[in-house]
Amino acid sequence: MRIAQALTIAGSDSGGGAGIQADIKSFQEMGVFGMSVVTAVTAQNTLGVHHVMPMTVESITQQLDAIAADMGTDAVKTGMLYSGEIIEVVADCLQTYNWKQVVVDPVMIAKGGASLLQQEALHALKHKLLPLVQAVTPNIPEAEALAEMQIECMEDMKKAARRIRETGVSYVVMKGGHASFQEDVIDYLYDGHSFTPFHGRRVETVHSHGTGCTFSAVMTACLARGASMTEAVQVAKQFIQAALEDELGIGNGHGPTNHW
Ligand code: PLP
Repeated sequence: MRIAQALTIAGSDSGGGAGIQADIKSFQEMGVFGMSVVTAVTAQNTLGVHHVMPMTVESITQQLDAIAADMGTDAVKTGMLYSGEIIEVVADCLQTYNWKQVVVDPVMIAKGGASLLQQEALHALKHKLLPLVQAVTPNIPEAEALAEMQIECMEDMKKAARRIRETGVSYVVMKGGHASFQEDVIDYLYDGHSFTPFHGRRVETVHSHGTGCTFSAVMTACLARGASMTEAVQVAKQFIQAALEDELGIGNGHGPTNHW
């Protein structure tokens, strides 16, 4: 029997807690064969991002073409895309190869404040990439940037999700981890008709590096295995909850949350 395959198009985190490394570890953990297209190489550890080197458009195209020409994939996720020109290459390839099962983690700013998406690339993300994909998984600051509004209550979360869905993306997964107005952490899945809530306990910890990457990677692995969007979000939520409650104790700053 053929094993399910998933592809991550994202940045490398030398510290192993986020980016490509978190995605591949999560795919493996979910029993899915992981493949990667590296968009940028970051030098980072638990104290922060120290250097960013984007890959060339030629290299990214070659990586995507190599996978499409021989291996294919059941689902795709995107993480750090860094620039407008990288987003355009990725959007073109998704269309060329007809990869429809795609989850976009709209990575913008690392927890330490480093920019992982150039300001001018936001337009391409919203108007070139989101119309082509199945799901987008913003946290509150990312949703504020995408929806161009402040989010200060649960109703605002829903309003922002409606606005983000107007880009053409099928599902918006609005994550509540940064929502200080919530006591527990409630994420919403919005499909254009209704909001499905997913409840979790809030965990007070600085060791949350890579949670966004891992969440979207687990979702992508579930979709690759044939799960519904609701099942994929449910499994990702449980995975992150368990990871946050089980600190690894690595590094002196914002430690990683990989879980196994
Ligand atoms: N580095 C890379 C390559 C990432 O893709 C991400 C997040 O998506 C981060 C760093 C930021 O991780 P965090 O904000 O969880 O520390």
